[in-house]
Amino acid sequence: MHGLMQEWPLLCHKIIDYAASQHGKREIISRSVEGPIVRTNYAEARARALKVAQRLEKNGFTLGDRIATLAWNTARHLEVWYGIMGIGAIYHTLNPRLFPEQIAWIMNHAEDRAIFVDLTFLPIVEAIADKLPELELVIVLTDSANMPATRLTNAVAYEDWIGEVDGDFTWHSFDEKTAAGMCYTSGTTGDPKGVVYSHRSNVLHALISCQPDALGIASNQTIMPVVPMFHANAWGIAHTAPMVGATLVMPGGRMDGEAIYQLLDEERVSMTAAVPTVWLMLLQYLEETGKKLPHLNRVVIGGSACPRSMTQKFQDNYGVDVVHAWGMTELSPLGSLGTLKPEYADLEGDARLDIQEKQGYAPFGVEMKVTDDDNLSLPWDGKTFGRLKVRGPAVAAAYYGGDGVEQFDDEEWFDTGDVAHIDAEGYMQITDRAKDVIKSGGVWISSIDLENLAVGHPDVAEAAVIGISHPKWDERPLLVIIPKPDRQPTREQILEFMDGKIAKWWMPDDVVFVDEIPHTATGKIQKITLREQFKEYRFPTA
Ligand code: AMP
Repeated sequence: MHGLMQEWPLLCHKIIDYAASQHGKREIISRSVEGPIVRTNYAEARARALKVAQRLEKNGFTLGDRIATLAWNTARHLEVWYGIMGIGAIYHTLNPRLFPEQIAWIMNHAEDRAIFVDLTFLPIVEAIADKLPELELVIVLTDSANMPATRLTNAVAYEDWIGEVDGDFTWHSFDEKTAAGMCYTSGTTGDPKGVVYSHRSNVLHALISCQPDALGIASNQTIMPVVPMFHANAWGIAHTAPMVGATLVMPGGRMDGEAIYQLLDEERVSMTAAVPTVWLMLLQYLEETGKKLPHLNRVVIGGSACPRSMTQKFQDNYGVDVVHAWGMTELSPLGSLGTLKPEYADLEGDARLDIQEKQGYAPFGVEMKVTDDDNLSLPWDGKTFGRLKVRGPAVAAAYYGGDGVEQFDDEEWFDTGDVAHIDAEGYMQITDRAKDVIKSGGVWISSIDLENLAVGHPDVAEAAVIGISHPKWDERPLLVIIPKPDRQPTREQILEFMDGKIAKWWMPDDVVFVDEIPHTATGKIQKITLREQFKEYRFPTA
């Protein structure tokens, strides 16, 4: 017997409808690409999204079309997403930090028919336009006053373009499993792979991630996603914030400490989210200026491991709670969050930091396990590590075009490629990417643990650890460090600092100092390039 409840397809445009009707006056504040801070609200954003949908349809775009966006976080980018989804087309976010050739490859792979592009990134589209035979229309996210001269014959100014319709439009209705969005993985090995979100998975992910023990977003909060909409579905915030009616602050293209601080302060942001590298810049700015964060309550940190020293600084020096989170483009993206269960809530000092260093526990809707190489589940004892696998309604079941089939098994478990352990309370800790663990004498050393420890040294700005081949042990860890400006720590000082805090055989065999550590387009340390850089390196002792 079926239940006798209504079919109410989980469609993303219902989120913006809800936001407009229940939280219509709640503001969306953006640092515009043209410069000034601009203010709109959910009612206006919905009205403009309807125009986007109507105008796209007028141009002949329809259900299933892939429409790219190459843009910063702004209200315009948000309304464009909803407009695209509202006709059953698919927003396809592009990461401007990729090489132009990679962007062209991804656009062709996805067969994007049109692109919404910020002024900042127009030169990228101009440079690759000849390689994009499928691309029919370039909509530049600005008005005619700011529209630059361009060699593209198919480029229009966004405000003029949507100005040609009246917004008298009804969202289309279709199956909730219809594709809504697309985002390619960063492709640290091989070509990038396309993840395709559905309306259903986006809505469920927003419901899952707004819960009090997850992101904990509500209508009385002001949230600033510094994490870009082009990285991993904006951690779902473009859906979660309107779903609960939170005030949204969109930081646009300025990512420096001062610019981020200005918005946090002037717009009284209560919660924000980004990768650790952004927070390194902010903390450095705060240390240099002596400024404080009186309005901010919570910062969500993920994308790569949040160092213990960062959590400590936010909490002890600025009174801001840190929620360490783990996720992947393939998970829509949130997979675990480090809010504290009652079992851990009363912990203080180091004991609390020990838990916060972990990536947290899976919310409802994410099943998680760690397995050995034979796919046997490992115990939740907080130390036995293995391959991390997940499944759930907002986890990818396949990649676009059938790539990467080996990552999915018959029971729909997705092999994340991360190595982790889970403790008795369900808190998961990533110890490495499977390809980055250092295999020393048949046992594994976590490069992430060593990096986290090293950045706790007061003279260290950033640290990376890679395995270097060793005649006796196969591989041993090499610690690569960028010192803080005007500091000159020595190898011995660093090793002394680490000594006693980790097992003896985990100690790096050497420390080298560099000016720069390569990063991927999503802010992770690019271990492949680093290994390439040090491929001739030999340990003095080896
Ligand atoms: P992306 O799809 O670009 O978000 O990358 C996902 C990968 O980033 C994961 O598989 C992890 O390797 C890494 N990652 C994300 N969050 C964390 C975290 N909190 N700690 C360590 N690694 C993380």
